[in-house]
Amino acid sequence: MAGLGAARTLRVAGIATVIFEKSRGLGGRVATRYLGDYAFDHGATVISPRGSELERVILEELPTDELVDVTAPIYLAHDDRVTAVDPEGGKIKRYAYAKGNSTLGRLLGEGIESRLEMRVEEISKNGPHYLIDGESFSHVILNPPIPQSEVLLASLGDKRSFPGAQYRKCLSVMFGVASEIDRPYHAILDPNQSQPLTWLSLEHVKCPGGFRAPDGHAAVVVQMSARYSRYSYERSDEDILRETWVDVKRVLELGKVGYEVSSVMRWRYSHSSNTIGFETANPHGAKVLVVGDGLSGARTHQAYETGVRAARQILEDI
Ligand SMILES: Cc1cc2nc3c(=O)[nH]c(=O)nc-3n(C[C@H](O)[C@H](O)[C@H](O)COP(=O)(O)OP(=O)(O)OC[C@H]3O[C@@H](n4cnc5c(N)ncnc54)[C@H](O)[C@@H]3O)c2cc1C
Repeated sequence: MAGLGAARTLRVAGIATVIFEKSRGLGGRVATRYLGDYAFDHGATVISPRGSELERVILEELPTDELVDVTAPIYLAHDDRVTAVDPEGGKIKRYAYAKGNSTLGRLLGEGIESRLEMRVEEISKNGPHYLIDGESFSHVILNPPIPQSEVLLASLGDKRSFPGAQYRKCLSVMFGVASEIDRPYHAILDPNQSQPLTWLSLEHVKCPGGFRAPDGHAAVVVQMSARYSRYSYERSDEDILRETWVDVKRVLELGKVGYEVSSVMRWRYSHSSNTIGFETANPHGAKVLVVGDGLSGARTHQAYETGVRAARQILEDI
């Protein structure tokens, strides 16, 4: 998101920009996994941009035909008791994309030159220019999680390091269920993280219309607590799926139901838990800038904002 925020801002200003992305698509942790007829947002589940630049872009610049205004509320779970929340919370605008939130990365990246499946291992210098895979640039914006950006800075001989930027691990577990799970909420949150299962999203309720699961089926994504994720990170998928399914069935009171597809995603850097200031990371005049939620807080729109800010700093510089 941060890299896309930067690239779009530079493009609007007429500056040629290239994105290097190690994955097959753009969007990073705003990601969707497709399994059979199911679609799961196993990264960011909703985008609640709260009047930010990203909200303006989503509503005014990008196509909105696949944009879903998520109206079903979030309920709270306390010791497995699921209760409705203060209705004021429901007033926060939450968006998702019908076929998967990875749509956002694709839409933001349209028209921007991108080298996909291209992991940047090092950056070198050639006079005033920076070389990435043989291509030459006046400025570089680094969007990997901060510890990985530090490795790229080191490849340049740049000694900046940011031990203050910290992230937590998160296991996202997905289940496609051949049975109706109809509820008045799209997600349940355990704010105290007292149980392993801290967030449960009913993808087919969040985005109705058969995009996330066939009619009469259910697509469930659960995010495990920081403690469980840390402890279980190296354990087998089989163990994680078995334990998590027991929890899902108990919380949703499902009885003897099984699942037909499943998957586990291990996010090593899921959410920034401690951030560093933008100015600390990026002194004025820096040609290589660092962006992302390690500077801002773990929200899509906040990460996007750091990219926009980096682009503006570069525009001032040139
Ligand atoms: C499970 C989970 C649930 C979340 N839920 C929400 C939510 O509901 N709402 C919300 O607003 N936010 C949520 N977030 C947080 C949000 O997704 C992130 O804060 C935000 O997307 C981070 O964006 P970023 O640009 O900082 O980093 P990333 O999205 O991590 O982007 C970094 C990009 O750099 C690429 N990359 C890394 N290293 C290299 C390399 N060497 N070469 C080339 N490319 C590289 C990566 O593939 C990735 O595309 C969630 C995150 C997770 C993991």
